[in-house]
Amino acid sequence: MAERFGVRHASTGEIFRQAAADGSELGRTVKDYLDSGGLVPDELTSRVVEEMVVGRSDSYLLDGYPRTLRQAHDLDAMLGRRGQELDLVVCFELDDGQALRRLTGRLVCAECGENYHREFMPPQAEGVCDGCGGPLKVRSDSAEEVVRNRLAQYDEKTRPLVAYYEERGLIERVDASPAPQEVTRRTEALLSRIASR
Ligand SMILES: [Zn+2]
Repeated sequence: MAERFGVRHASTGEIFRQAAADGSELGRTVKDYLDSGGLVPDELTSRVVEEMVVGRSDSYLLDGYPRTLRQAHDLDAMLGRRGQELDLVVCFELDDGQALRRLTGRLVCAECGENYHREFMPPQAEGVCDGCGGPLKVRSDSAEEVVRNRLAQYDEKTRPLVAYYEERGLIERVDASPAPQEVTRRTEALLSRIASR
């Protein structure tokens, strides 16, 4: 989608890996967190986003940032320093039951790393990778307990951002329950409106 609209796609995971590969002091600090499997703190996350994305480009699609109110305030501050504003915040809505079904059914090929889903993207033969014939296993981040914990974290830390951006008239909601192609189509329609302004 970012490619289609000629903007940069910046997902937090990808930005962290880039920063770590850069070898800057900031990158080395990030790498320490990633290597130890810990969560990168808000302040550091914001510094990396400013250095790697906001400070380098005028058009980008932030994916996975901001996730907390603190990060949202940081983003306002870094945009304010540059006289820039957010165009749009897209909120994908899915109830917990459906999110749980999607996230817990994920399978990954132990040989080639290809992703599948027990219900929504099943392999042709059960338990076997279509591409390489390797065995499929449940992804380690797909255990029900892990997913429930992530949903609880979302409720506590990220959901307040919806009201925060709603007050400023920036939120557009997309029903994420249809098939991926349909969700993509609806999201592209929203972005087209921004692009044509
Ligand atoms: Zn495979």
